[in-house]
Amino acid sequence: MQKGTKMERFVCPICLKDNQSCTKETNNMLSEFSYVKCNVCHMSFNIADDILVLDNPTLRYSLFNLIFEFLILHRKKAISDIRVKCIFYYDDTVPSKIEQSANIINLFDLMRNYPSNVIERTNRSLLLLSVLHETIDSTITKDLYFGRFLFCTSFVQNKEIDKMLEFLSGLGYIDCFFNKETISLTFKGWQKVIELSERLNVVDQGFIAMSYSDEAKPIMEAFREAISASGYKAQIMSEKEHNHQIVPEMFYEIERSKFMIVDVTYQNYGAYYEAGYAQALGKEVIVCCSEEVFHDPNRKPHFDISQKPIIIWKDVDDLKQRLKCRIEATVH
Ligand SMILES: [Zn+2]
Repeated sequence: MQKGTKMERFVCPICLKDNQSCTKETNNMLSEFSYVKCNVCHMSFNIADDILVLDNPTLRYSLFNLIFEFLILHRKKAISDIRVKCIFYYDDTVPSKIEQSANIINLFDLMRNYPSNVIERTNRSLLLLSVLHETIDSTITKDLYFGRFLFCTSFVQNKEIDKMLEFLSGLGYIDCFFNKETISLTFKGWQKVIELSERLNVVDQGFIAMSYSDEAKPIMEAFREAISASGYKAQIMSEKEHNHQIVPEMFYEIERSKFMIVDVTYQNYGAYYEAGYAQALGKEVIVCCSEEVFHDPNRKPHFDISQKPIIIWKDVDDLKQRLKCRIEATVH
């Protein structure tokens, strides 16, 4: 153990198993955060200490449902191959004080995508259960954290679990055996998983593709404010992450974004590349350029704007206002 770290056993916040299997480690490098590792549910992540001691049990339970879902789906996508260690925190200020990235996750943003009705909850539960099926004939046995797969909202979950399993089997997605102690996905269930996977993980976020130079910072802030004001989260890959290792992570973030905002005021080949990728995926791509640069023959951007009207702005206030209107009109 490194100097300055402190490890203790405690009750796992995911599976709620007793304190024999889970450890919580604090260290001086990341104060106010702990590293949680559990040998029962096999989850490991960094988390802000204030979430671990939340005194609202319903909110805490919901937050850990989302952490569980996030980690399970990332494991499925093999994102862990690039050794991303997720850091979860909760901040309801907009824009968030902490720089966003693919593995630093604001639970406040995730909460906006909490299943809002029983249909969505059933669909997302089915997706999580499908991750556990490694082969076509495998079955899932109910264990102590089974309620996490079904987005159950309390510690007394048996009724909720039974109701959710009733929905899933009523829809023909699963078969239940042994008094609902074991389940397996049906052919119809797999069909639904494939249909859902096509829109898997598309969240309410807009990806910003632009130069990270200091002179471009006011534009980035204007983008961030316009995206937030339209009810979306701004996804910005920070400059340090723009190396070859982060490319899969960047593609992943573009895939799960609803739209992309591109600045062409300051030349950046990465941004053109990212915009091309988003365009190919059928995402809404909104291109912005300052009036000054756009009308300067020497600096005019090389962007194929024949398809879409570009937002040519006078100043950052003009940009914010027009970008917000464009997002609201074109992103659904
Ligand atoms: Zn656990």
